Amino acid sequence: MVSPILTARRPIIEVLQAAAQRLESAGLFFGHGTDNAHDEAAWLICHALQLPVDKALPDRLLNAREQRQIASLIEQRIELRQPAAYLTGSTWFAGLQFQVSSDVLVPRSPLAELLVNQFQPWIDASGIQTVLDLGTGSGCIAIACAHYLPGTQVTGSDISLPALQLARLNAEANQLAQRCEWVYSDVFQNLSTQRFDLIISNPPYVPELRQQQLPDEYQAEPALGLYSGGDGLEHAARILLGAARQLTSEGHLILELGESADSLQQQLPMIPFIWSEFEYGGEGVLIASRALLQTHERAITHWYQSRNGQEET
Ligand code: GLN
Repeated sequence: MVSPILTARRPIIEVLQAAAQRLESAGLFFGHGTDNAHDEAAWLICHALQLPVDKALPDRLLNAREQRQIASLIEQRIELRQPAAYLTGSTWFAGLQFQVSSDVLVPRSPLAELLVNQFQPWIDASGIQTVLDLGTGSGCIAIACAHYLPGTQVTGSDISLPALQLARLNAEANQLAQRCEWVYSDVFQNLSTQRFDLIISNPPYVPELRQQQLPDEYQAEPALGLYSGGDGLEHAARILLGAARQLTSEGHLILELGESADSLQQQLPMIPFIWSEFEYGGEGVLIASRALLQTHERAITHWYQSRNGQEET
C-alpha cells in the first residue's frame, strides 16, 4: 500500500516547511548559494518541480509524485553533504545562471556586488577594454565581467581543464562566447605576453591546515580552488608579484583574499591597498592600481622572496 502521507495532496507551503525543518535538523552547512535551510529547501523544491527560483512559489497542492521527487532531493542533500548546486547542476551568480559540477567551486563571492556595480566607486570602468579572470573555475567572474562591461574582451584562465571546458559552456549559454577566451595557465605562466586593463581573481586563499575544520560541503569542492599553502597566501603572493607586468599603465588588480586579507596587510604594512566595502556582505577584497604595485615593487619582491626562502637579488 502506498504511504498515506504521499497519496495525500499537500499544499506547497507545507512541503516547504517540512523540507526546511528536515534540512535544519540534519546539521548541514549552508554557504554555497544560500545561507539558511529555508532558502535551500525552496531552491531544491524549485529544481524538483522545474519552477523558476526568482519567482514566489505557486500556491498549489503537490501530488504524491512531486512530493517524492522533492523528498528524494532533500535526502540526497543530507546524505551526500554536497552543496545543493552540485545536485541541481546549476546556480546563480551576479544575476546570471551557471552550470556547475564538482570540478569547480560553487560560484559565490562578494565580487558579484562589484561586478553588478561596474566597480563603482572604486574604478572607472569606462577605461576597461581587456579583463583577465585568474583561476576562473566555472567562468562565473569572467562571464559576469563580459556581461556587465559590454565593451570588454575577457580572458579566463585556470589550471583545471575540466573547469575551462565548463567555463566555455557557460559563456555559450550566456551568449557571451564571442567576448570570452579561455586559457590554460598556472597564474601568469602562459599569459606572459599579454597585458590587461583589469586583472580580477578569487584565487585559492584558505590556509591548508583549515581543511580538516571545514564542513563536508567544502570537502566536496576541488581542493585546487580552495587551499593556498600554510598561510593561505601562496597564490596571492604570486599574483601580487606578477600583476604589474601584466597590467596596462592605468590598469587595476582586484584580488579576493577573504579570511587571509588581514594576514596579507600585516605582512605588507607599507602598502596602502584599498579594501573594498560591501553593502550585501563580504570582506577581504583588495584593489590596487598598477601604479601602486609598481611603487612598492621592491617590497613585494622582497616579501615574495623571503616567503620562498630566496635571497634578494
Ligand atoms: N572561504 C572561501 C569561501 O568559501 C574560500 C574561497 C577561496 O579560497 N577562494 O568562499
